[in-house]
Amino acid sequence: MVGDDTNAVHGWEWFRDQYGSVITPVYLSTVYRYLDEEHAVVSDRGAIIKYGREETPTVRALERVIALLEGYDDALAFSSGMASISTFMVRVLEPGYRLIVPLEMYSTTLQLLESLSRKMGFDIIKVWPSADAIIDALEGGDGEVRTVVFLEVMSNPTLKVIDLEKVSRVVRECDDTLLVVDNTFTTPILLRPKDYGASVTIHSLTKYLAGHNDVVGGALAASSSIIQDLWDWRRMMGTVMQPFEAYLTIRGIKTLRVRFVKQCESARAVAEYLLDHPKVEDVMYPGLPSNPYHSVADRIFRTKLYGAVVSFVPRGDRASIVRFLKELKVITPSPSLGGPESLISIASASAAKYIPPDVREELGIKDTLLRLSIGLEDVNDLIEDLGRALAKI
Ligand code: PLP
Repeated sequence: MVGDDTNAVHGWEWFRDQYGSVITPVYLSTVYRYLDEEHAVVSDRGAIIKYGREETPTVRALERVIALLEGYDDALAFSSGMASISTFMVRVLEPGYRLIVPLEMYSTTLQLLESLSRKMGFDIIKVWPSADAIIDALEGGDGEVRTVVFLEVMSNPTLKVIDLEKVSRVVRECDDTLLVVDNTFTTPILLRPKDYGASVTIHSLTKYLAGHNDVVGGALAASSSIIQDLWDWRRMMGTVMQPFEAYLTIRGIKTLRVRFVKQCESARAVAEYLLDHPKVEDVMYPGLPSNPYHSVADRIFRTKLYGAVVSFVPRGDRASIVRFLKELKVITPSPSLGGPESLISIASASAAKYIPPDVREELGIKDTLLRLSIGLEDVNDLIEDLGRALAKI
């Protein structure tokens, strides 16, 4: 067994071509020589390599890396984070099942799950993003119905940290309950949901894992039996990732730790700066000792790092927030996160757009709340950029 960083660099090497390439070869071919099952070439998990929607070498290489990083037997790569969520949920949920989710998650995820619940006839139970609320919902069940709990440990966009340790203690006691975690914001550097009993871990690879704002992709890691079954659903639904994106993601993962550590350290410095700024009303960042989620983050995260997204509310109305965004020169207004370029977005117009306004208010997502994804620029330049733009409000 080798360390996480060695796996991040070498985990793709389940195959070597005859040239001994030091980096992952990109097999762009959508089709492979195939006569029949008896004569077929198979991947390490026994899937026949014959067609691009099913199993291909470069995508398979990425899946091996993700499985190693998240500590599961196996993984699947998808065309987006939403493709991994939708393929899994369509497969696993049935009429009469219960799906427990926090009120605050990436809002397209919530929109999808609500739409699926109406179409498929399962119950969606939305609760406050906390371990206690999730546990109350779990205990409200009748023990018969299959239950899926799906959560982001650090909620998008206000960064409430759910005590996964507490949730997992109760989930372990419930028969027939699956714990599924979206680990996009936390990454395996901060958290491995499998260590807390999650049956499935999902990623939007678009964010930190690919890490360069040039890939849209998703992944799901789980036991071999879950993956084998889901492999067929991915094949039928056509939600597989493509080889060049897989290559770029493998390349991105090699530098995940060095990127993410710097981004988290800069995020803490930016959060501290904003906390003291007279033009800032509120800062949400679990790395601040004054943040109500600091101690739970400290306990459940693997390192003393708290993520690379900082959410904050400048003083002023929506018009002044737009003015502030227009003044930024280093930070780009744009609705994603996880890349080298720092990006900022109005949460109610992007990540939280599909959460109803009254629920947004309850969750503390004001129309002027900004979500800032810290990139790899010099932190002093980010602080200077923010300070200059705040001065214009
Ligand atoms: N999960 C989280 C936490 C996200 O922030 C996002 C996108 O922003 C997704 C899932 C969806 O991923 P994708 O955009 O790759 O489909």
